[in-house]
Amino acid sequence: MYIKEIEFINFKSFGKKVKIPFYDDFTTISGPNGSGKSNIIDGILFVLGLSSSRTMRAEKLTDLIYNGDKAKKPDFAQVTIKFDNTDREMPVDTEEVVITRKIRETDTGYYSYFYFNGKAVSLTDVHNYLAKARVTPEGYNVVMQGDVTRIITMTPVERRKIIDEIAGVAEFDNKKDRALSE
Ligand code: ATP
Ligand code: MG
Repeated sequence: MYIKEIEFINFKSFGKKVKIPFYDDFTTISGPNGSGKSNIIDGILFVLGLSSSRTMRAEKLTDLIYNGDKAKKPDFAQVTIKFDNTDREMPVDTEEVVITRKIRETDTGYYSYFYFNGKAVSLTDVHNYLAKARVTPEGYNVVMQGDVTRIITMTPVERRKIIDEIAGVAEFDNKKDRALSE
């Protein structure tokens, strides 16, 4: 499974609809400082259902909405990732898996929506689908700035937790804890 394309609408610095194609092996993105390279990574984490806006370098989720045009600030941001699923790593029987996340800001707060292959789903649904393909937004599919240093300076117990997560053991520990507390 790999990312084929990402589409941004009003997400961070992407004030209009922008589609970015990805290759099946290796894609690098280059550009001047402040041109939006890291915002692309933030967009990926957004779709994967990351709830902490800090990791996406925004104070609150609504700060992810494009604010470059003060006269006409959009009330929503939307990012869509199209995955190639020809290897069926994601256990659904479609060649492509399309996941969309949208946040909409209103006078009373904000609303978050997820769509999986066009169907409205919950954040937990998205997490469960992704976990089956061993993708976790808080996991180690994405190496952020400072992560390598953090792992080197960790205690052995903390490092063990990372290995549990990568091996997929932590997911069952979490489910067990949740079941026991119900
Ligand atoms: P560097 O090479 O310095 O790492 P970069 O290409 O990774 O740069 P980003 O951090 O992705 O750049 O983009 C930063 C830009 O995104 C800033 O100019 C910032 O103003 C803009 N930006 C962030 N959030 C928003 C928003 N909500 N609306 C409009 N622009 C935004
Ligand atoms: Mg950057």
